[in-house]
Amino acid sequence: MDESQKAENFFLDSSETTNLPKSHNTDIMNQPKAKRFGSKHFSGRCLCGGIQFEFSSQPDWPHYCCCDDCQKWSGAPTVAWVDFPQVAFKLSDPQNLLRKFKSSPIAQRAFCSQCGSSLFAIDDDGKNMSVTITTLDRPNLHCPESVSYTSFAPKWFPHKKILPGEAGS
Ligand SMILES: [Zn+2]
Ligand SMILES: [Zn+2]
Repeated sequence: MDESQKAENFFLDSSETTNLPKSHNTDIMNQPKAKRFGSKHFSGRCLCGGIQFEFSSQPDWPHYCCCDDCQKWSGAPTVAWVDFPQVAFKLSDPQNLLRKFKSSPIAQRAFCSQCGSSLFAIDDDGKNMSVTITTLDRPNLHCPESVSYTSFAPKWFPHKKILPGEAGS
């Protein structure tokens, strides 16, 4: 297994991923990415605002993850993630608040040491990173398309009902 495959497998176990059923596709999901997002500029921040960040790239693979690492890290039953290349990332952290925790053999998780916001999962190979969709300024643009590691979700958590088309209905 080469490094890129390892990185891919960190979040995605295909046997436990629920793909978006065709009936859940909305018009916006069917548009080419460039048209859907309109730009390649996405900004975000932590709760206290001490950490601000930008990505200058098209995003990839918006999804929920219910793995136990995501649960412990966030305190929530699932985390909504979207991926960007690390080269497209720009950080503003004048108070040096960002902290990283080695959460797996191939990646680190990053958070704000002042307000506790769960921000990034950063692959050690330098290629990809994931950002929590709800720390982005326009979370509506990144509608999750799949759910990973559903077997780890608490039994009371309705992971089958959180895909696009059902969320909020
Ligand atoms: Zn903060
Ligand atoms: Zn996870």
